[in-house]
Amino acid sequence: MKSTLQLSPEPVDDVINQAALHAEVISDLFRDFSIALPKDTLVHRDEPLARRTTLRVGGPADLWVEPSSENALTSVLELCALRRVPWFVLGRGSNLLIRDGGFRGVVISLAHGHFSRIERVEDRLEVGAGARLKTLAVEARRMGLTGLEFLEGIPGSVGGALRMNAGAMGAWMFDRVERMRCMSPEGVIRDLPVAEIEVSYRSCPLLRTHLALGATLRTHSGAVEDIRRQMDTYSRKRWDSQPNQPSAGCTFKNPSPELPAGRLIDELGLKGTRVGDAMVSDVHANFFVNLGEARASDVLALIELVRTRARQARGVELETEVEILGED
Ligand SMILES: Cc1cc2nc3c(=O)[nH]c(=O)nc-3n(C[C@H](O)[C@H](O)[C@H](O)COP(=O)(O)OP(=O)(O)OC[C@H]3O[C@@H](n4cnc5c(N)ncnc54)[C@H](O)[C@@H]3O)c2cc1C
Repeated sequence: MKSTLQLSPEPVDDVINQAALHAEVISDLFRDFSIALPKDTLVHRDEPLARRTTLRVGGPADLWVEPSSENALTSVLELCALRRVPWFVLGRGSNLLIRDGGFRGVVISLAHGHFSRIERVEDRLEVGAGARLKTLAVEARRMGLTGLEFLEGIPGSVGGALRMNAGAMGAWMFDRVERMRCMSPEGVIRDLPVAEIEVSYRSCPLLRTHLALGATLRTHSGAVEDIRRQMDTYSRKRWDSQPNQPSAGCTFKNPSPELPAGRLIDELGLKGTRVGDAMVSDVHANFFVNLGEARASDVLALIELVRTRARQARGVELETEVEILGED
């Protein structure tokens, strides 16, 4: 999720003045963080985001912060609000396209161990938003709990999977959620039963404005060997049909259940199409891969090229599943 602040683009002198003003505000905020946040909360300046995303493109964030507790997270949000600095939360960066100019503001990561717990309570799992989906699936298997096998190959975090209502192999994240704990931009924590949470295909709209802190997931007891076999089957299916190169997963949402975006792009003959080092995968046409030196601008141009062809040839308006953030 993210907060927004629009900087006026015109005229040139104003832009320069605003940039100088912004740099000053960021320095002040960095000082605020150093004073107010606990010592085990990590704060970096000018953090390159390309290495924080699976697509490996994008410029730096002004500030990167990993709060070590919910109180520290609340302080981060309060200080950002006081200085009117935008922020967004980044999980494992596997559904993100950060523009080449990076993000003017604060990127919050819940990578600290405080947000990564995975605890069994009877047949349920209490999981933190920072936990990796792979770790969650493997831990559930170790505990003999079935129902989360489909998460194994999704390279995201619990928080990102809640925001995106991630899904695979016919299951969705929110199929398994019993409760979700989240924080408002003002730092207010709520623990909501799933019945009170609106969800849809690849979206949990509440998390456009709120941060997910964690969730209670429903599972069932199962035999470890059966769970392992199911995960192996899913894994084989996945790696037979998706490229083993840097990407952000599926670029577009499926226009309809009958028309997967990958099939549409394949039918348009666009597999292998390149802009710079960004390429429509020749394994799965909805994956756009980075062949090594791609820039965000290359990926964005490729997205536009494919959207235009889909519109012109088939009258289909493709909507990105990948979230695009930052400035050029
Ligand atoms: C090789 C590959 C395969 C993939 N396969 C699948 C698949 O099978 N199914 C599928 O659904 N997706 C798939 N994806 C996409 C991606 O892994 C999922 O969308 C995943 O859930 C994103 O999690 P993340 O932690 O990486 O989120 P990020 O990419 O970091 O962020 C995505 C969005 O979630 C928000 N967000 C992150 N954490 C939080 C939080 N704690 N609170 C609120 N908002 C938050 C961010 O602000 C952003 O808006 C795949 C990606 C790759 C690269």
